[in-house]
Amino acid sequence: MRLLIVEDERKVAEVVARGLRAERFAVDVAHDGLSAWQMMDEVAYDLIILDLLLPGVSGTELLRRLRRKGGTSAVLVLTARGTTADKVENFDLGADDYLTKPFAFAELLARVKALLRRPPVGKSNLLTVADLEIDRLTQQVRRAGKRIELTSKEYGLLEYLAANAGRVLTRTMIMEHVWDESFEGLTNIVDVYVRHLRAKVDDPHEQKLIRTIRGAGYSLDENPEDGV
Ligand code: CA
Repeated sequence: MRLLIVEDERKVAEVVARGLRAERFAVDVAHDGLSAWQMMDEVAYDLIILDLLLPGVSGTELLRRLRRKGGTSAVLVLTARGTTADKVENFDLGADDYLTKPFAFAELLARVKALLRRPPVGKSNLLTVADLEIDRLTQQVRRAGKRIELTSKEYGLLEYLAANAGRVLTRTMIMEHVWDESFEGLTNIVDVYVRHLRAKVDDPHEQKLIRTIRGAGYSLDENPEDGV
């Protein structure tokens, strides 16, 4: 799960980012409206924590732009502007939740988790590819009915592949979705994690689901022998 915090108060942004990273989320931070928009335009965040009063472009305008281009990220508005009119305006524009400053981190975290538990409209919590089952609610993974234990990054990678089953995902797309900007490792990290994932998900089974598309990236596919 990759999150974006849009907050010009650096101290607040830092505390929230640190807390969410400790909960194993991938977290990016933007301190002004313009850089926030660039990031929102590039990355399909799972959730955005959005301050309203920002230098550059306001949070309300960012929300309007995001929904206009069809962005489905969950948006939690976090602001000192807590009048009913402010709240209604932002819900009308497509905010999913609202928290007024000052706030307790525990409440923010509870709201973030609740928002991320909601499946996107029309989608179920259960992702199924062949005999692989991923429950997005409990983050439990099973193959042929047998439970598979994954680390949080392995899970993030598998969930992303399964949510886009049959599509080729480039290393860049995977990096952008599963890791955050604080990651400063090697770009072959994706290959390393795909290897880990294969060992757990594919190696014990005859039918292989994770497919390497040479020169392009990876895909999770029920019929990996087709069209290789
Ligand atoms: Ca602000």
